[in-house]
Amino acid sequence: MSTDTRRIIMADELGYCWGVRRALDIIEKAGKPEDPVATVGDVIHNPQVVDRLRSQGVQTAETIDEAATRGFKRIAITAHGAGPERAEEAKARGMELIDTTCPLVTKVQRLAQKLVKQGYYIVVYGDHYHPEVRGIISWSGTTRAVAAKKVEDLPWNAQRGATGEGVEAPPRKVAVMSQTTKMVEEFLGFTRELTDMVAREGGEIRICNTICEPTYERQNALKRLASQVDLILAIGGKKSSNTARLAEVGRAFGVESYHVESGDEIDANWLGSVENVGVTAGASTPDDVIQEIVDRLVSFGFEPPAQGIKPVDLEEVPSY
Ligand code: SF4
Repeated sequence: MSTDTRRIIMADELGYCWGVRRALDIIEKAGKPEDPVATVGDVIHNPQVVDRLRSQGVQTAETIDEAATRGFKRIAITAHGAGPERAEEAKARGMELIDTTCPLVTKVQRLAQKLVKQGYYIVVYGDHYHPEVRGIISWSGTTRAVAAKKVEDLPWNAQRGATGEGVEAPPRKVAVMSQTTKMVEEFLGFTRELTDMVAREGGEIRICNTICEPTYERQNALKRLASQVDLILAIGGKKSSNTARLAEVGRAFGVESYHVESGDEIDANWLGSVENVGVTAGASTPDDVIQEIVDRLVSFGFEPPAQGIKPVDLEEVPSY
């Protein structure tokens, strides 16, 4: 039934995840303008936050070599983690290392090591270029480990037991784990195909669901949001692939969804007959950017969200 009130409904979980918030806390405390620290890789893909951190003595370098050339004495590992060689390199150069790796990523690194000792070939479902995935593979400390997003990325092309020219069958023991931020349905689809290849002729497969709890909460929050609103705005930098993904998933749930970086991008035509607008945000979107979008929606005649932009208890530690 139609009412005159136009509401803004915030996703229960949005913006920085627990691990990124924790990493920012650590790095902000470590930052000293007179003795700056360089993070190896971006601590976060958000230009405003990067500028703010720079003024606090936190800068970014692509590699330890670059950090050393630029005169840094302290380097930091980001929330995504890095392989053990990073700490060794820092030690060899006499640099102090600040480790902000999310404990939920550390857990996956340790799991990979353990499974290698048990004789498993490691498959990490995820993006091969992503620092988290590269770090997990590096921690596994073996050449019997691969990153894959589809079975075509695997170093075998047939089921166990298959023979013939050009046929590469899987090893006997395979363990699969996921990059922490992947969609569970997609991970499950991949593991089904992988199981079909491996679990024949005595093959053994271990499926380790390592998608983290904050990611689940974000995915579930988006599902709940989609069931309550007529339109979804996914807030985040244009380069943020996880924000683009949120808009895509919103559309997959049948709700018109847009990826916006700032309030200026909101087109009044989108809001014409909308009663309830849903707001979500990518993992690198700071609270002030979310607030700016909410303020803009209020200027379009929507009621501000009753609980503010963050109804979730930020002190809560996810299980791992
Ligand atoms: S593992 Fe989860 S909580 Fe940790 S940084 Fe990654 S997405 Fe965030």
